[in-house]
Amino acid sequence: AGARGTAYLDDLNPAQREAAEALDGPLLMLAGAGTGKTKTLMARIANLVVSGRARPNEILAVTFTNKAAREMRERLARQPFQVLEPLRWMGTFHSISVKILRRHAELAGLKSNFTILDTDDQIRLMKQVINAANIDEKRWPARQLAGIIDGWKNRALTPSNVPSSEAAAFNNRGTELYAAYQDRLRSLNAADFGDLLLYVVEIFKAYPDLLTEYQQKFRYILVDEYQDTNVAQYLWLRLLAQGHRNICCVGDDDQSIYGWRGAEVGNILRFEKDFPGARVIRLEQNYRSTGHILAAASGIIAKNAGRLGKTLWTAGGLGEKVRLIGRWDGEEEARWIGEEAEALQRGSSVIANRRSNARSKTSIQESERLAKGGRVSQNAAGDIHVSNLMREQSLTPAGAGNIPIPRGFGLDEMAILVRGSSQMRAFEDRFLTIGLPYRVVGGPRFYERAEIRDAMAYFRLAVSPTDDLAFERIVNTPKRGLGDKAQQVIQMTARADETSLLEGARYAVASGKLGGKGAAELRRFVENVDRWHKAIAAASPATARNPADDDDELIELDEASVPSAHDHAHVRLAEEILEESGYIAMWQNDKTPEAAGRLENLKELVKALEQFENLQGFLEHVALISENSSEEESEKITIMTLHAAKGLEFPVVFLPGWEDGLFPSQRSMDESGQKGLEEERRLAYVGITRAEELCTISFAGNRQVYGRWQSQMPSRFIDELPEADVEVLTPPGLYGGGYGAAAGFGGNAGGSSVEARATKADVYNSPGWRRLQDRAGNRPVSQPRESRHTVIDLDAVSAFDVGDRVFHQKFGYGHVQEIEGDKLAVAFDKAGTKKIVAGFVVAAAD
Ligand code: ATP
Ligand code: MG
Repeated sequence: AGARGTAYLDDLNPAQREAAEALDGPLLMLAGAGTGKTKTLMARIANLVVSGRARPNEILAVTFTNKAAREMRERLARQPFQVLEPLRWMGTFHSISVKILRRHAELAGLKSNFTILDTDDQIRLMKQVINAANIDEKRWPARQLAGIIDGWKNRALTPSNVPSSEAAAFNNRGTELYAAYQDRLRSLNAADFGDLLLYVVEIFKAYPDLLTEYQQKFRYILVDEYQDTNVAQYLWLRLLAQGHRNICCVGDDDQSIYGWRGAEVGNILRFEKDFPGARVIRLEQNYRSTGHILAAASGIIAKNAGRLGKTLWTAGGLGEKVRLIGRWDGEEEARWIGEEAEALQRGSSVIANRRSNARSKTSIQESERLAKGGRVSQNAAGDIHVSNLMREQSLTPAGAGNIPIPRGFGLDEMAILVRGSSQMRAFEDRFLTIGLPYRVVGGPRFYERAEIRDAMAYFRLAVSPTDDLAFERIVNTPKRGLGDKAQQVIQMTARADETSLLEGARYAVASGKLGGKGAAELRRFVENVDRWHKAIAAASPATARNPADDDDELIELDEASVPSAHDHAHVRLAEEILEESGYIAMWQNDKTPEAAGRLENLKELVKALEQFENLQGFLEHVALISENSSEEESEKITIMTLHAAKGLEFPVVFLPGWEDGLFPSQRSMDESGQKGLEEERRLAYVGITRAEELCTISFAGNRQVYGRWQSQMPSRFIDELPEADVEVLTPPGLYGGGYGAAAGFGGNAGGSSVEARATKADVYNSPGWRRLQDRAGNRPVSQPRESRHTVIDLDAVSAFDVGDRVFHQKFGYGHVQEIEGDKLAVAFDKAGTKKIVAGFVVAAAD
């Protein structure tokens, strides 16, 4: 064994090493974030192979996402030894199950080439089953049934063993429909996601010899993120592990964030019962995050009841405090984060001249004390308090080895972790505008999403009715009863007349070439496009010129088309287009789980329009940015959801949108009991603990929700952050007095670039914040949040100061000379002085 060395064990601490070397028998590694659970799991696999205990294909390693499996493979490839054979059985529960199921599909009544249904197909099939059973799909929607059946599958319940206590589900017909749905699937030679695991469990139960075969095969089983396994996954594991009993699970009860998908954190607690004699190893040293970050995360999670409880400490020094910043609205938040990301690249911060906090190595004892700062106590009234040890003790840094922070960070080292994917749009827009390369993990970029492309096609067609590509995309979306045949007729008619598809369609209907229901719908569609186009033409007089051609007229032109809060005709028109076309209704009637997200995205799209003078300008903007974004840049800032970020780490983490109703989600707040809220809190813990060196939490005072401005309350989780670990940021000079003050954070912001530090209390007590609250309905911040839906009028305020350096797409760089409402007089370096709407320039570095 020693021949190839054991370097992979050498950089483990004693507890980790113990876990990596205790190869035989059941083992549970229970430890907080960043303690090296995944690292240790990898070392264990390396150890298994190098020591000759197991060949790579005798190791079953389960990860939570395919991305995690990929990362595990990469990590293994980096090990200073070589696994010569590939680890064939490393992947998610689903990917491993598919592999097993393909080999034995006939035992589940399938052929080995069975198809796996996605959610859309799943819902469609359920609709058929519901209709076939003569049930009114309107009253009993397919999505609801899908939820029920998925829930059963997550609990490994087949139609025949759903407990009788649940027989009332779905109007007493749940189990019957479940059985019918399974029959339909089988007759289609198909399985849905939940089936994959369930079938494997069923086959193993029904064919003990086969189970024995697999039990023998998998000599060692390893499971990462064990806290998020559901019952079916748990049974799956237990069946396979009963053979050699060499099962190693690692998890953190505080990071269980998939309860809504049936995960049962109780599986961790059951481990020792299921595998008597199991070894439990706890890891306590966090290697990922610096002290303040860790203490902040610990402080928040301490508010959850019924935790297993863990100690965490770091030898990494205190580092930077968790930074907290409030902005006026979501766009401003995105603007600030973009600027800060750019500043961090240069090794500075938008918070100019801030004292470069020295990263310092504190002693281990100090760090241990630090970790305890997050401990909780509970008083007789049941209130939970985080002890303030942190503040009382003096954490004097040991002088040696100080590294100034912020250092320069690469974009690859930064991530923005959002609660919901509709938050992503503001960042994408902003980053596209300033040319900051980004990647969206776990989904297409905003403007590449299907629903956005559809909507854009509607806008394009309305602006230019000859846009045939746009026509093709949406003529039958939503369905207008136009099959391939009808579309051919339209194409041929247009070609014969050498005209656009829209004209072809008009003629095909008028001449009777097309008949039936499709023809009537098509006529309506053509009429709609005509009307929209007229509305657009009316709004932009034919005399409108390209401003760049005619500098003298620039000011008048700009003023004539200045978008103001009261003049958003094109925004209203866009909404009308989406409504009248039936496109919104199409998603509203869609019962798939994705539909709600798509509607959110469409609302985001309409919101984005407000930044522009008209639809044409917007379409141009999107066309431009799509072009720009195609070039491959190596370094990118990552945008992803908190859920997708589990297990990952980044030196710099931004956590935007910490507002009640967004994070924690409205649903979790409305729920009775603490369950939902506690899961959100674990999500907060996951978010903060992704950060290694710099963690910035932000919130906006206003957000547009369902098209209306709504004043937002900072997240209750912000109140739960231990104050000693938080620094409230006030960006100096970024927004002139009025603006900053209105947002509540201008208390000590002048135009100067003096480092501004304030406590949360300072913020809440600042005149600006008060004023905001007054306007929002005259209530102090700490009061119940019933008046959240107050609409606040936005003043036209400038985001710039005289003297600011700015950049305009057409005119290049310049300095702000004068500010007048939301218009700026800018002295451009090349193009001379021009009056510009503030929304059309971005701040630039001097
Ligand atoms: P999470 O709960 O977030 O999944 P984890 O417990 O799996 O975290 P890892 O991702 O394995 O933690 O490790 C966190 C970081 O700490 C990684 O960068 C890892 O390389 C580093 N690390 C872990 N153990 C050690 C060690 N003994 N020495 C140095 N670095 C370590
Ligand atoms: Mg991990």
